[in-house]
Amino acid sequence: MYQSFIGLEVHIHLLTKTKIFCGCRSAFGDEPNTNVCPVCLGYPGVLPALNIEALRMACMVAKALNCRIPEKTWFERKQYFYPDMTKNYQISQFASPLGQEGYVDIEGEWGVKRVRIHECHLEEDAGKMIHTGTVSLLDYNRAGVSLLEIVTEPDMETGEEAEVFIQQLRRMVRYLNVCDGNMEEGSLRADANVSINLRGQGLGRKVEIKNLNSSRFVRLGLNYEIERQSKILDAGKTVVQETRLWNENRDQTEPMRRKENAQDYRYFPEPDLPIFTPDAAFLKSVDESMVELPLPRQKRLAAEYGLSAKQAALICEEKAFADYFEETVAECDYRKHPQAAKNVTNWLLTDIKHILSREAVLLADIDAFKITPKRLAVLIMMVMDGKVSVKNAKQALELMRLEDKDPEDIIAEKGWSQITDPAEIATAVAEVEKEEAETIKELSTLMTDNGNPKRVRSLSAYLTGKILARTGGRADPKLVGEQIEQMIRKQAVHP
Ligand code: ADP
Ligand code: ZN
Ligand code: MG
Repeated sequence: MYQSFIGLEVHIHLLTKTKIFCGCRSAFGDEPNTNVCPVCLGYPGVLPALNIEALRMACMVAKALNCRIPEKTWFERKQYFYPDMTKNYQISQFASPLGQEGYVDIEGEWGVKRVRIHECHLEEDAGKMIHTGTVSLLDYNRAGVSLLEIVTEPDMETGEEAEVFIQQLRRMVRYLNVCDGNMEEGSLRADANVSINLRGQGLGRKVEIKNLNSSRFVRLGLNYEIERQSKILDAGKTVVQETRLWNENRDQTEPMRRKENAQDYRYFPEPDLPIFTPDAAFLKSVDESMVELPLPRQKRLAAEYGLSAKQAALICEEKAFADYFEETVAECDYRKHPQAAKNVTNWLLTDIKHILSREAVLLADIDAFKITPKRLAVLIMMVMDGKVSVKNAKQALELMRLEDKDPEDIIAEKGWSQITDPAEIATAVAEVEKEEAETIKELSTLMTDNGNPKRVRSLSAYLTGKILARTGGRADPKLVGEQIEQMIRKQAVHP
C-alpha cells in the first residue's frame, strides 16, 4: 500500500593527476599530509586555479548521463565549519551545475527503467578524519581532490534498483576512464535518500543514509529503511527527517544527525574563480574522449555476434575485456568460421577467465596478457579446423601464457597436431574394418533396426578408440566419426 521513492547522490573521484584547484598529487594511500600545499590547506591569501582536466572529465560523465551542459558554469562557496576542510568552506557548484536534466536507463528483472538525473556538479573533496580512541587524526591528502557529484531524481523504488544504478554507473565511469570506481577506497561513494508514502500521495519525508561504500550496502540500507519507515507509518506516526548511517555489523541504519538545509550553507559565488564558458574547442575535446558506453555496447555485441544477453553482459563487464573479445573475433576468419564469435565467447568466459582469476590478473589488465587476441584466435581456429583437439588446445593455452609463444609452435613442438588428411585416416579405418568385422556387423544391424542406442554408442566408441589408437591418438575425431558412419552405411547396403 506504500510507495517508496529513492534518490541517490553519488560522489566520484575523478582520475585527474592533480587536485582540482592546485598542483598537488591526487592519489590514494600516500603518507598522510604529504600531498598538500598552501592552496589545499586554505592558507589566507592563496588563489585557486581550476584544473581543466577535471572539467573535461566531468563533462564526459554529464554527456554519458544525457545531461545538458549549460552555456556558462561557475562555482560557489559552501560554508561550513568542520576540521576536514581548513578553509571553512568548500568550493562547489550550486546555481549552474555543469550537467543538468539528464537520464540513464537501468536494466534488471524489472525490464528497463529510466532514472532522471537532476544534475551533476564539480566540487573539491574534504580531508579525511580518522577517529582512534580519544583522538581524531586528520589527513589532508584528500582535501581538494576533484569530485563529481551526481544527483538523481527520486525515481527508484527498491534497494535492488539502486544497487543496479550504482553498478551501472560504476561500469560507465570506468569505461570512460574518468574514475576507478573503487568503492572500498572511497573513489565512488553514495548517499541514499528514501521516503515512503501512501500510494498516489507523492513524496514522503525523506531520510538520508550517508556514505555507503558498497553497492550491496546501498541495497541493504535502503530496503531496511523502507521497512522501518513502513512500520512507523503503520503505527500512525511520522518519519523524522534525518541523516542516518548504515551499521554493517548490525545490518541496520542508525541516526546520525538532523539534516541541515541549503540556507545553512550560505552559498555565494566564488570570487576567486572566473565563470567558465565551454567553447567549441573544449566541447570537441570532450566529444573526442567519449567511448561507446557499456549498455549500448552490450546490445551491439549481442546483435552483431549472436551472443545471449547474459554472455554479452559478462563480456562487457570491463572495457578491456570487451576490446579483447572484439580483437580476437576480428582475428578469426569469419567467412570460413561463422561460429567463430560464439567459440571465442566460450573460450573467454570459461578458460581465459579461469586462468585470469587463478593468476589474479584483473579483467581490466588483460592488455598485458601473454595470450594476445591474435594468438588466441589462431588457437581457436586450429580447434575449429580439427588441427588440434580441445584437450590439447587447453594445454597449449597454458603454455602460451607461460612461454610467450605462438600456438602453432607449441602444438608442433609437442606433437599435438591432429591428422586431418582423410586418406591417412581411411588407411587406419580400413585396417580396423578387417579386424573388427563382427563388431561392425553388429553395429550395422543395430543401426538399420534402430536398436539399443546405448549399445550403439558403446560400439561406436569402441571402434573410434581402435582407429584413434592406430593414429597415435592424433586423428581428428570428427573425421573418424564421419568415416565410421560411411563404413556402416556401406555394410548396410551390401550385407
Ligand atoms: P536536500 O535539499 O536535502 O539536499 P535535494 O532536494 O537536494 O535534498 O535532494 C537530494 C536527493 O534526495 C536527491 O537525490 C533527491 O532525488 C532525493 N530526494 C529529495 N526528496 C526526496 C523524498 N521526499 N524522498 C526520497 N528522495 C528524495
Ligand atoms: Zn594543494
Ligand atoms: Mg541537495
